[in-house]
Amino acid sequence: MDYLAGLNPEQRGAVQHINGPVMIIAGAGSGKTRVITYRVAHLIRSGVDSFNILVLTFTNKAAREMRERITNLVGPEAKNIWMGTFHSVFAKILRVEADKIGYPSNFTIYDTDDSKSVIRAILKEMSLDDKLYSVNFVLNRISAAKNNLVSWMEYQKNDQIQADDISSNRPQMGVIYQTYVQRCFRAGAMDFDDLLFKTNELLKQYPEVLNKYQHKFKYLMVDEYQDTNFSQYLIVKKLAAVNENICVVGDDAQSIYAFRGANIQNILNFEKDYPDLKVFKLEQNYRSTQNIVNVANSIIANNKDQLKKNVFSEKDQGDKIKVLRAFSDNEEGKSVAEDIMQQRSSKGMKWSDFAILYRTNAQSRSMEEALRKLGMPYKIYGGLSFYQRKEIKDLIAYFRLTFNPNDEEALKRVINYPRRGIGDTTIDKIIVAADQHGITPWEVIISPERYLEGRVSGSVNAFATMIQSFQVLTKTQTAYEAALYIAQHSGLLKDLYEDKSVEGLNRYENIQELLNGIKEFSEREDIEEKGLDVFMQDVALLTNDDKDKDKDADTISLMTIHSSKGLEFPHVYVVGLEENLFPSQMSLNSRSDLEEERRLFYVAVTRAEHKLTISYATSRFKFGTLINCEPSRFLDEIDAKYLELDFTARKEPSVGSLNYDDERTSWSRNDDKFSKPKPKTVSAPPKTTSILAKAHVPSANFKPSDTSNLQVGMEVEHERFGFGKVISLEGNKPDIKATIFFKEIGQKQLLLKFAKLSIV
Ligand code: ATP
Ligand code: MG
Repeated sequence: MDYLAGLNPEQRGAVQHINGPVMIIAGAGSGKTRVITYRVAHLIRSGVDSFNILVLTFTNKAAREMRERITNLVGPEAKNIWMGTFHSVFAKILRVEADKIGYPSNFTIYDTDDSKSVIRAILKEMSLDDKLYSVNFVLNRISAAKNNLVSWMEYQKNDQIQADDISSNRPQMGVIYQTYVQRCFRAGAMDFDDLLFKTNELLKQYPEVLNKYQHKFKYLMVDEYQDTNFSQYLIVKKLAAVNENICVVGDDAQSIYAFRGANIQNILNFEKDYPDLKVFKLEQNYRSTQNIVNVANSIIANNKDQLKKNVFSEKDQGDKIKVLRAFSDNEEGKSVAEDIMQQRSSKGMKWSDFAILYRTNAQSRSMEEALRKLGMPYKIYGGLSFYQRKEIKDLIAYFRLTFNPNDEEALKRVINYPRRGIGDTTIDKIIVAADQHGITPWEVIISPERYLEGRVSGSVNAFATMIQSFQVLTKTQTAYEAALYIAQHSGLLKDLYEDKSVEGLNRYENIQELLNGIKEFSEREDIEEKGLDVFMQDVALLTNDDKDKDKDADTISLMTIHSSKGLEFPHVYVVGLEENLFPSQMSLNSRSDLEEERRLFYVAVTRAEHKLTISYATSRFKFGTLINCEPSRFLDEIDAKYLELDFTARKEPSVGSLNYDDERTSWSRNDDKFSKPKPKTVSAPPKTTSILAKAHVPSANFKPSDTSNLQVGMEVEHERFGFGKVISLEGNKPDIKATIFFKEIGQKQLLLKFAKLSIV
C-alpha cells in the first residue's frame, strides 16, 4: 500500500483507523485535509463501497479538489462518493424527500437577496420602522434562530427571546419570523439556513428517512469542523448515530465564523458525545517555513481561549516576514504590486504563486488598481458572484419560475421585465388577491377572472401562457436548448442586445457566458440527467469560485481572509494591518470578538508556504474621508526577531489633494478639515525594536533573563515594550502569564516563556 507512504505515522494512524469515532484537532498546514483525502482512498481500497461515503467540506471548490486527488489515488470510483458542502449535499437529499415536509422537489433556493426582498415586503406591510427593524438585523436574527433550531413557534413561546426583543424595542420580531417562514413555504422556497433547518426537521420527524441515510452513509468525514454551527453539528450527530464511523478534523485556532453561528462548543461536545473517541495529534506543519510557523504560533499565543497544540516545521528557516509600510492605501497597492513584480522576476515564479489577502472586500480596489496599472494578471475570488449579477439573476428567475411558478421572488423580478405593460398597480392587485385567498400570485395569474375584479390586462394572460409554454418545452429539450429558447422568447436577450452601452454589451456577454456554461453542462458525459431543472438545482449555491473556466489560468489570487481558509500559496501578502481595519472596529468591544480577529490573522499568516509579506498604510480613504491609521496591534504581537522592515519611503503620495513636504516629516492639507497626522520618521527603526512609532530601544544592560521566579511588584524591562512593573502572575510553570504595566504602552499580558524580559 505505497500510497500510505506519503503520510507520517500519526497521519497514517488516523487514515487506517477506519471504524469508530475519530477527531483530529491540529494546527494549520499539518495535513488534516490530506488525512481526509487519503482516508477516503483507504476506505475504498479496503473494500468500502464508495456510495457509502459522505464527505462534508467548506466550499464546493474544496470538494472538487479533493475528488480530483482521490481519483488520482483510486480511479473513477471516486465519482460515486457523496462529497460537497453541507448546503449542497443536504439540498440534494431534501429534493428527494421534499414531499414529506410539504415542499415540491423542485423547490427554489432563495439567496440572500431574495430573503431580504421577502423581509422588506413584510416590513412594509406591517408598517414597521425600517431603521429599527433593519433588513439585515431581521435576517440575522431569523438566521440565528434557525441555526439554533428555534422554529417560529418556539421563538414566540420562548420568554427569554420575547424579553430580549421587547427590551430592544422590537416586539414584532416573532411575527415577522412567522410571516417570513410562511411566505417562503407558500413560494415553495427554502433559504440557505432552511437547507439545514429542514434537514434536521426531516431527520427528526421521519425515523425511516433517518434510518435510510444512517445506513447509506456508513462513513462520514467533516473538514473544517471548527466552523460548523449547531444545526450542522446535529445533522452529523444524527447521521453517525448507528455506525459511529465519523471522523472530524479542524483547528479551533482557525474558527472564524462565530459571527455566523459557528460554535467552538461543537468540538468540546464531540468528546462528550463519543466516549470511545480516538484522538490523533498532528504536530508537524508541512506547508510553511519555520519562521512562518513560529510567527503564527506567537500570534495565537495571545488568545486566552484555545486548545494547546505544538506545531513545528522541518522546512527551511525561510525568509523573515517582510513588513511594508505605505503612506496611503493606493501606495500600499503599488508597493505590493511592485514587490510581486520584483519577486516574480528575480525568482522565476508564476503569477499564480502569489496571493493577496485582505480583511474586507473594499480593500481589493486599491490592489486591483495597482495591478491593472502594471498590467499584472489577477483574479478576485469570492467577490460579487457571477450568479449575483442582475442580468444573470433575471434569466435565472425565468428558469426558476418555469420549474416552480409559485416562486414569488422570481415572479416579481420578471413579470414586467422586459417591459410588457404589467404595471405596479396590477402587480399589487395580484399580490393582494393572493394574500386574501391564501393562494400564490401564480394561481391568481392563471385564473384572473376568479380572483381579480375588473378588466385584467391581456399582458397578464400572455405572460402566463409564455411561462406555461416554457414548462412544456423543458420537459423534452436539453438544458441548453431550453435555456436559449427562454432567453430569446422572454425578450431578455433582445432587450440586452439593443442596449449598446458598454455596460449593456457587458451584460449581453454575461448572458452568453451563462448559456455557454449550460451548453457545456448539456454536453457532459459523466451525468445522465441533463435537463435545465438539473442544472438549476445547485445554481443558487454556486459562487464565483465554482466557475471552472479559468481554473488553470496563471493569475495572482485576491481574496478575503475568510475565503482563503484551507488554501495555500508560495507567497502571501496580508494587507491593511491597521487598527480599526484589522482588527476591525467592530471587534474591539469584547475579548471574544478580538480573539476571533486574531484567529483570522492566524489563518492569513498560515496560508503562506515560503514567504509572507505584511503591509499597512498610515492613511486611507474610508467612506470618502481620509483618515489616519495606526499600525495594527497584531503587528506588535509578533516578535521583532522574525520581522524584516521595508520602510522605503515613497516620494509621491497619491492621496486626494494632500501635499507632502519633502522634509518627509509631516502631511499638510490645504484646508484644515482633516486632523493633521502625527509626524513620521522615515528611516527604519532599529530592527530589534517594535515597529510601532514609539519603539523602545533596549538599554545597554538589557539582557533577557530567566524569569521563572518573577514576583509580583518586580521591575522589569521588555525588549520592545520598555520598563514596567509586574502586577499579577497566573498559571503554572512553564505556562505562567504575567500582567505587566509598562510605562510607555500600558498594561500587557505576556507568556513568560516567550517574553523577552530582563529584571532590573
Ligand atoms: P489547514 O488547517 O490550513 O486547512 P491542513 O491541516 O488541512 O491545513 P493540508 O492542507 O492537508 O493541511 O496540508 C498542508 C500541506 O502539507 C499540503 O500541501 C499537503 O499536501 C502537505 N502535507 C501534509 N502532510 C504531508 C506529508 N506527510 N508529507 C508531505 N506533504 C504533506
Ligand atoms: Mg485543511
